Amino acid sequence: MASISIRKLIKRYGHGAKALQVIHGVDAEIHDGEFVVIVGPSGCGKSTLLRMVAGLEEVSEGEIAIGARVVNDVEPAERDIAMVFQNYALYPHMTNFENMAYGLKIAKVPKDEIRQRVDKAAKILELSHLLDRKPRQLSGGQRQRVAMGRAIVRQPQVFLFDEPLSNLDAKLRAQTRLEIQKLHNELGITSLFVTHDQVEAMTLAQRMMVMNAGRMEQFGTPEEVYHRPATTFVASFIGSPP
Ligand code: ADP
Ligand code: MG
Repeated sequence: MASISIRKLIKRYGHGAKALQVIHGVDAEIHDGEFVVIVGPSGCGKSTLLRMVAGLEEVSEGEIAIGARVVNDVEPAERDIAMVFQNYALYPHMTNFENMAYGLKIAKVPKDEIRQRVDKAAKILELSHLLDRKPRQLSGGQRQRVAMGRAIVRQPQVFLFDEPLSNLDAKLRAQTRLEIQKLHNELGITSLFVTHDQVEAMTLAQRMMVMNAGRMEQFGTPEEVYHRPATTFVASFIGSPP
């Protein structure tokens, strides 16, 4: 596990006169093992921020560190992170075991260890009895758990989630939210979770970063943000008490 430090982070898309600045100097310290939600309206820069932590977007100015290591110039594969997206693409011709094991096979992890790691993840996700089946033989929720298992087996220092629940119906969304909470309770992996949904943020977050137009308006516990909104934006977006 590891902390994440975000220091004076700026992001511009494009260059020169056509450059568009979308992150305007974000500072944040995410503690080791913490579950932090980044919440804000569509287009405020949540995915951009997350993708910079993942190494999928270049940092324009400032610094990102995972643990003690500044990762600005570190390749995504070397960052010890696992990212879970909205669309979980599993390989249809592989079993669920093979889907979960695939990344480890590529990384040349020994067979015994692959077996151990997949079995452990399957147990946590209650997938043990489904490992020999193909993804199409599972329900939507189970398929999603296989995709999460694929991320867990890599034993990352950090989990990054970009709106993983937004394509699900209300029931499955609530169920998967519980799965994610359980996962965090069991493994305690430092997690950054992006959503535009205030309720999702309030229920999942240990602390939440409220963003608006490329700036962090507040970073605090759901209670703090709700009862003591730092700005009028936060008050109107989260909803302050009467
Ligand atoms: P969010 O995830 O909060 O909806 P994004 O990080 O996707 O916001 O986008 C923030 C801003 O950056 C938006 O104005 C968006 O149009 C712009 N943007 C995102 N990706 C790119 C890109 N690859 N090139 C240019 N502009 C982009
Ligand atoms: Mg986004």
